[in-house]
Amino acid sequence: MNHLDEFGVIGAYFKRANSLLAQQNSMIDLGIGDDAALFQVAKDHQCVVSSDMLIENRHFFADVAPRTLGHKALAVNLSDLAAMGAQPLGFTLSIGLPKVDEAWLAEFSAGLFALADEFNCPLIGGDTTRSPIVVINITIFGQVPTGQAILRSGAQVGDAIYVTGQLGAPAYAVDLLKKPSLNDEEQTALASARPRLEQPQPRVLLAQALRESGFVTSMLDISDGLAGDLPHILKASGVAAQIDLDALPLHTALNALPEAEALRYATSGGDEYELCFTTSNAIDSSQFDLNKLQDLYQTPITRVGCVLPKEQVRELILWLMQGKTLKASQYSLNLISGYNHFD
Ligand code: ADP
Ligand code: MG
Repeated sequence: MNHLDEFGVIGAYFKRANSLLAQQNSMIDLGIGDDAALFQVAKDHQCVVSSDMLIENRHFFADVAPRTLGHKALAVNLSDLAAMGAQPLGFTLSIGLPKVDEAWLAEFSAGLFALADEFNCPLIGGDTTRSPIVVINITIFGQVPTGQAILRSGAQVGDAIYVTGQLGAPAYAVDLLKKPSLNDEEQTALASARPRLEQPQPRVLLAQALRESGFVTSMLDISDGLAGDLPHILKASGVAAQIDLDALPLHTALNALPEAEALRYATSGGDEYELCFTTSNAIDSSQFDLNKLQDLYQTPITRVGCVLPKEQVRELILWLMQGKTLKASQYSLNLISGYNHFD
């Protein structure tokens, strides 16, 4: 690899002072530099592990700003931990690079570490190799009190369904970026949608607060869109759902779009690192104050539907618009697919 070899790259861009590591997260005993890292999990906690891979031209454009790529590579993993209600501890980075481009590496690691520092989640190891295109795999480790992780399988009939944030912007940004030219309106929309695509904010702290509330029965992150991911909860829990399309929190970037198109982005668009969760219908609202959580974590939380018995509906999700059920023939909206890597 050019003038910097593998170890040069690691030393220059990925290894930081051990003192910083200890200061950042006291659970980490050994970071980069030995054959493996060592970390602890608090007493009566389980270790939570998740892994996500990003491939050039598949998950990001080759010319994407490396700083935002560094951010996103970690953000998608933090989002998976968040979806379990877990607290991040540290992560490993395996990276394949066609060449050593130091300007690129400097920007990439700056984006990566800025987010890592925000969540006290240090880089504790990894692997660095040459590869024909850029391939990035991050494995993240976290902890959750034993038995308290929020699974996909806990939704019950009568539960309310919520989503965090505003939906639709990332998928719309992808489409706008693919267009050869944009009019003024589209340029404004892109400026507001693009940060949601390139710099998603994983809902790590909000998710832990939701877990601690004790009212959340199931949760996942909707990285493949609401229509793509909610069925995972429904299948795992053996239930169906009703989603009120009028209630969906549409991102403001979609304001100028025809309603059907905006709804298609908000339901079927991928790259959405928001949470979808269900809450027990036995909620005592004096104890579960969503408004307080919204304010505390500066994140909209919107009730979008409820959990139904499987027997009551033919489809897994009943889409409602102005109180009426959308028929399958109206699925020109393509509401049911979501993003599937093997389409
Ligand atoms: P090994 O030969 O045991 O696989 P390596 O030579 O690949 O070890 O890596 C040396 C050290 O650098 C290890 O601690 C490894 O975890 C770390 N490391 C390698 N690549 C990266 C990377 N991209 N980011 C962070 N740490 C890395
Ligand atoms: Mg190695």
